[in-house]
Amino acid sequence: MIRVRFAPSPTGLLHIGNARMAVFNWLFAKRHNGVFVLRIEDTDVARSEKRYTTQLIEDLRWLGLSWQEGPDVGGSYAPYLQSERMHIYHDVCKKFITDGLAYRCYCTPEALEERRQIARLSGKPPRYDNRCRALTDKQIQAFEASQSPYTIRFKVPDEQIVFEDLIRGTCRFDMSLAGDFVIMRSDATPSFHLAVAVDDTLMDITHVIRGEDHLSNTPCHLLLFHALKQKPPQFAHLSLTMGADRSLLSKRHGASSISEYRKMGYLPEALLNYMMLLGWAPKDKKEKFNVDEVVDTFDISSMSKSSAIFDQQKLDWISGQYMREADIERLADLAIPYLQAAGFVSPDHGNIDRNRVKSIVDAVKGNMACMSQIVQETDIFFKDAVVSEDHIKFLSSETCQSILEAFYAKLQKLDSVSPDIFKEMLKSVQKETKVGGKGLYMPIRIALTGREHGPELYSIANILGVGGCRKRIEQFFKKEHYDIKTL
Ligand code: GLU
Repeated sequence: MIRVRFAPSPTGLLHIGNARMAVFNWLFAKRHNGVFVLRIEDTDVARSEKRYTTQLIEDLRWLGLSWQEGPDVGGSYAPYLQSERMHIYHDVCKKFITDGLAYRCYCTPEALEERRQIARLSGKPPRYDNRCRALTDKQIQAFEASQSPYTIRFKVPDEQIVFEDLIRGTCRFDMSLAGDFVIMRSDATPSFHLAVAVDDTLMDITHVIRGEDHLSNTPCHLLLFHALKQKPPQFAHLSLTMGADRSLLSKRHGASSISEYRKMGYLPEALLNYMMLLGWAPKDKKEKFNVDEVVDTFDISSMSKSSAIFDQQKLDWISGQYMREADIERLADLAIPYLQAAGFVSPDHGNIDRNRVKSIVDAVKGNMACMSQIVQETDIFFKDAVVSEDHIKFLSSETCQSILEAFYAKLQKLDSVSPDIFKEMLKSVQKETKVGGKGLYMPIRIALTGREHGPELYSIANILGVGGCRKRIEQFFKKEHYDIKTL
């Protein structure tokens, strides 16, 4: 049975780069009918916070991911919070010391730093010099008698470690260049290396899929698997995600946490789809797909070795397609909180004209990548619109005046306006004024909305209604700034 895990440290909000690791673990488990485990690596007590665990679980679920085992769903390998597994790491350390695989190191942080500096200055790698390996019993007794703090270090053999990475092929590390590494800190918390290897062992993890930033940790983990007498899992180190400037994706490239994308009103399936394109593409190279369509074609060894570049425009392009296809009731539900927050619709749900919201969302959904954009897209329907001096000048030309007058005259004869009636109306205005195309639509659009771009004209007319359209044209004739709130 294939078992994979996503093992985030809850020290901040889940960002795109890390969530992408979760996505590919989940996809791999799905592809092989395996088990996806969520394990929380919260041994760094000072930096880990429970709220981040809660939030990341919420974010992963929002994205559409699910796991068979984890802190929130339990499982037969529980507990899944490393902070609840401390006794296990301590027992392992004790056993390693008894077996001569590890030892107590009494070097102080200051002494270590000083030696690192000296090594650096003489051009040597700043590795630990393994000096506490050779302490005599007498020296150890002296340190113990004075209750000197200690870490526990694992003895690294002078050997080459070679392993096959599912993405990167053969990887070689010369361990004679590495010092003995810490497995237990002086505050009695396990190091990342120990906790990962112990838990991957005890949780029967078969494949470790994680970022290539962990590649150089893997030889340490392999040594620990060996010491634990465990057949090591297979490794797949995924390339990392960069911003357009080729630096590691971070906040400065815009929103980077999943919860921010969620707040902006991206559709989760769109974000998930886009994240799957970071470093991978389905065989048919289609860019928009749902997971069920592509899961059978997922082959982790086909993932790119080079960095994935996060492209906000591409995300928006894919999101726009999802937005256009989404169910209008769902979009209206999503839109209402943004419209309420902008003061466009009543904060009282009972008073919302849902049909009006639906027509508004329908009119603008083609121009949006995420729902928060609805505010800027639809303020023309709710807010004071200002026709700029330049636009007033433009609309004052003889041609524009005659178009608007003809348009207004038609509106006077109508009780209501549908897209078909509106199209007919424009046709007859065109006949009368002999102006067609953009020359005809633009003055009407500007007079109705104060803008050169926006939803289809007939949708605008439909949403404003005959009264609304008439009032805006009247106000234009009076050359006033429109107070749309009174419409
Ligand atoms: N807690 C580690 C991280 O967030 C997990 C690394 C691993 O997957 O082994 O990077």
